[in-house]
Amino acid sequence: MLPDLSHAEILRYSRHLLIPEVGLEGQKKLLAASVLVIGAGGLGSPVALYLAAAGVGRIGLVDFDVVDSSNLQRQIIHGSGAVGTLKVESARQRLRDLNPHIQVDIYNEPFTSANALRIARDYDLLVDGTDNFPTRYLVNDLCVLTGKPDVFGSIYRFEGQASVFYAKEGPCYRCLFPEPPPPGLVPSCAEGGVLGVLPGTIGTIQATEAIKLLLGIGSSLVGRLLLYNALDMSFETIQLKKNPDCLVCGTHPQVTELIDYDAFCGVPGFEHDEGSAGKNWDISATDLALRLKNGEKLRLIDVREPHELAISALPGAENIPLGQLAARLPELDSAQELVLFCKTGVRSTRALELLVSAGFRKVRNLQGGINAWAREVDPKLPIY
Ligand SMILES: [Zn+2]
Repeated sequence: MLPDLSHAEILRYSRHLLIPEVGLEGQKKLLAASVLVIGAGGLGSPVALYLAAAGVGRIGLVDFDVVDSSNLQRQIIHGSGAVGTLKVESARQRLRDLNPHIQVDIYNEPFTSANALRIARDYDLLVDGTDNFPTRYLVNDLCVLTGKPDVFGSIYRFEGQASVFYAKEGPCYRCLFPEPPPPGLVPSCAEGGVLGVLPGTIGTIQATEAIKLLLGIGSSLVGRLLLYNALDMSFETIQLKKNPDCLVCGTHPQVTELIDYDAFCGVPGFEHDEGSAGKNWDISATDLALRLKNGEKLRLIDVREPHELAISALPGAENIPLGQLAARLPELDSAQELVLFCKTGVRSTRALELLVSAGFRKVRNLQGGINAWAREVDPKLPIY
């Protein structure tokens, strides 16, 4: 039995009711439906806004972060007044204002193997708006194991991807990528940047797919990967095949319960996400400042891109972008102590791994990057 619409709801959704493929029946289906949006950031913003506006009856939001000024360039569900508050709270307020007829449930916690089954249990489908590998594999496996569609999106700089992974009808994410890339190899938006409007495009495609799946109309992106390039303004579609040997959705699955996805996607010892190379390799900004003040001869290597030096720079540092480091190793002296840094410590951790594998031992990673230096040592430098 589908719920009835009030007069206020009939007026609100009248442009939907006019479309034969949606109509009153479709609108009732949306009202009876539930979607879990993981991440209230760049992708989650347009997804949640459009699902709420469309009248999806129950929306769940998972995020444990607070709104930061650097989010506002793309995370359009949040406003300047929400900086410093919980993302899920800020998002819920906006969604309530947009549509008071729907239910919004928030989960202020990281989405992990420990809580994913409990949180996702009553939702019809999941939208992955987090764009990181551990969560991507977690959402995929959870959806395969519980028989739900996973609406996928991914963004970087000017390029985005979208698909629907639904093992009942097509391939899953693991069919495509059985193994995650080595940690640090695929740069995150926090390190490499992203055009602010890009998650708007990809998130809107995810919302479109979610609404179509709930309505049961059209052809979904099941079995297809959509590639979008904002610079060329081009869309491409790649056909995807189910892998019969897939570890989670294949004929003889080996992954039959959720695993430790941080361990699956990471390499012990180097903690890329925190901008740390591990305590034996890290130096804090405060300690580095002290050693420089004491006149120690440390060679500072800035592995950021040249255009980032215009934002902030350390005096005396040499710029060798990470991409050039392997070719420029002869410029470095392994007898001299080197301190590598980038914006937050992620790229410099990768640079450190490269140098360590080339035999360098007197090498340090500035933990937290030049942003940590701005926080701890020199507040005149901007944080970006
Ligand atoms: Zn699969």
